[in-house]
Amino acid sequence: MTPLSTDVLVIIDVQNDFVNGALGQPGADAIIEPINALVRAFEHVVVVKDWHPKDHISFATNHPGAKIGDQVDVPYGKQPLYHEHCVQGTYGAELDARLDVMKAELILQKGYRSSTDSLSAFYEADDTTTGLGAYAKAREFERVFLTGLARYGCVLASAVGSVKDGFETYIVHDATAGDYNVEECDKLIAELGIRWITSSDLVL
Ligand code: ZN
Repeated sequence: MTPLSTDVLVIIDVQNDFVNGALGQPGADAIIEPINALVRAFEHVVVVKDWHPKDHISFATNHPGAKIGDQVDVPYGKQPLYHEHCVQGTYGAELDARLDVMKAELILQKGYRSSTDSLSAFYEADDTTTGLGAYAKAREFERVFLTGLARYGCVLASAVGSVKDGFETYIVHDATAGDYNVEECDKLIAELGIRWITSSDLVL
């Protein structure tokens, strides 16, 4: 496979808190170099950041009596609770310094509303669009290649949104990390026609 001018590489949440901070993902260190190689290979690169206010709905600390891993009822359904992470303006929210994304055409921040989480780069938890799909269409991109953290969290949620917006959607396996709910998620991926590839399929 060769990256085309109608392809876009999307890098999700490769921020300090997800690499080795509050929500550090196993294997995250190993994805930096594959992502950098993909950035060199792609003409179009979009960077996505989790970007929460301190009083964000996904933080257990903002729900008195609740603990990490609990799910609370919110207007858009069930909200899982996490350690504080990617708080706007903090070190944890900064991109991993080893990431070479100087050429990125768009840096999109998600989850910036206190009341609403956003795992997906395309749709917030209440289904409000982030605008990424419209942007990608306006740029005449056709294929979306997803990388970043976590594989079955924000990356998968973004893949689902990408399919919903009509893009041919790929997840670059070795450019993602973090494993959970594998079986259930893999079933969803297959049903939606999302394709797994590795960076060596794209970068010689
Ligand atoms: Zn978050």
